[in-house]
Amino acid sequence: MARYTGPVCRLCRREGEKLFLKGQRCMSEKCSVGRRSYAPGQHGQGRKKVSEYGLQLREKQKLRRIYGILEAQFARYYTQAEQKKGITGENLLQILESRLDNIVYRLNLAASRSEARQMVRHGFFKVNGKKVNIPSYLVKVGDVIQLKEGATDSPLVKSIIEAHNGQNIPEWLELDTNSWTARVKALPSRDQIDVPIQEQLIVEYYSR
Ligand code: SF4
Repeated sequence: MARYTGPVCRLCRREGEKLFLKGQRCMSEKCSVGRRSYAPGQHGQGRKKVSEYGLQLREKQKLRRIYGILEAQFARYYTQAEQKKGITGENLLQILESRLDNIVYRLNLAASRSEARQMVRHGFFKVNGKKVNIPSYLVKVGDVIQLKEGATDSPLVKSIIEAHNGQNIPEWLELDTNSWTARVKALPSRDQIDVPIQEQLIVEYYSR
């Protein structure tokens, strides 16, 4: 599956804020947003006058980058969100939160969504008893996500679990740290999704 492979910190600098794409580094003094708080590129420090369209575009790009989604896939999620009952912007966030890589990240079993995506790709998780190695897999209410037997023998998984011990998980998920089994209790409401996004701007972007 295609994914962005360029410099990650550049994305945060472009949006002018931390998007927390690199795990531990984001909390350290090495974070580029703190060190170079202007947009990347030749004109990054130039005068900025942002149009209404520009604001909508930036909000869409920011959300896409937070979840690590490419343009075409993001547009498909938006179409799905529009077709669902309810508020389109909230539906979009709920769909993004339902991705398996995001669930692993929210369970605090990975330091970043990209690390979670890598773990899913390596086949470390089962959903309802079946191995799923597709990061974009959308979970449903009642789904059971389990760390595969023997996965904790892997040095990668062991170190991640030791560092991110499954604590501080959102209330719409539950995790048993003895069996490393999680359950989706509900899909999150808007106030349970802590992404700094004005989703209405994204709806306006796609409604142009
Ligand atoms: Fe963004 Fe993290 Fe890089 Fe800072 S360290 S610029 S928050 S990805």
